Amino acid sequence: MLTFDQLTKRFRGTTAVDQVSICCPKPAMIGIIGASGAGKSTLLRMINRLSDASGGRIVFDGQDVTGLQGRAKRQWQSQCAMIFQQFNLVPRMDVVSNVLHGTLNRRSTLATMFNLYPQADIHRAIDILDRLGIAAQAPKRAEALSGGQQQRVAIARALMQDPRIILADEPIASLDPMNAQIVMDALRRIHDEDGRMVIANLHTLDTARRYCDRVIGMRQGRVVFDGTPDQLTTGV
Ligand code: ADP
Ligand code: ADP
Repeated sequence: MLTFDQLTKRFRGTTAVDQVSICCPKPAMIGIIGASGAGKSTLLRMINRLSDASGGRIVFDGQDVTGLQGRAKRQWQSQCAMIFQQFNLVPRMDVVSNVLHGTLNRRSTLATMFNLYPQADIHRAIDILDRLGIAAQAPKRAEALSGGQQQRVAIARALMQDPRIILADEPIASLDPMNAQIVMDALRRIHDEDGRMVIANLHTLDTARRYCDRVIGMRQGRVVFDGTPDQLTTGV
């Protein structure tokens, strides 16, 4: 389904990702672990083409997505939704508008300025929020929510685009343990129930072990471990 073939990213003087080859035959929940600077973010950002590879290929369902441009690139990007450590919500905007914000580029900015979101989209947003246990927060401003609630809003925004893959870059690094658990449970459920692939950069081994089907360890741009959590006996 998703394959990295000799994927490489060089910045001036640094090889952030160094000939990484990974094959995911089915939509697993994958945790990527490794120290800061190991190349985890860069790898994730190359998948949805926020960052372009310097070498190698990414192939999804038989399609080489590495060189897509224009409309085809945008279509691919809409299939890979991303969530971030800092949630990246619009703090003063209400929760529902934040969830619908991602649909903006498909519609006129003017219409959304006046909150003219289609009813069907609003209903869908609220259904998704409900599923994540935060429908009651829908009218509040994003900034009024706890970190764990904000990350669930970001997940809801990601789900609005009905992605095949959810890319999560340190999704729980800013959260306390209880909220971290709620957010990881939500990601796991989205994987189990919807069959979406989840690829999460995680900084703790324990989290990867507990939630992921497969753990990939990176060091200095290279894969140094790739296996199931129970094959993971030593730290990377
Ligand atoms: P991680 O997510 O594991 O912390 P990153 O992918 O952010 O690692 O970074 C991997 C390496 O690439 C680091 O040495 C980092 O400094 C470097 N790097 C990342 N982004 C850039 C960039 N835009 N320009 C130059 N170097 C970068
Ligand atoms: P994160 O906490 O997600 O790893 P960083 O602080 O490493 O983020 O990087 C933030 C931004 O700066 C990213 O867009 C990354 O690509 C860029 N960046 C990271 N390292 C470098 C670097 N050595 N030189 C230039 N840009 C960098």
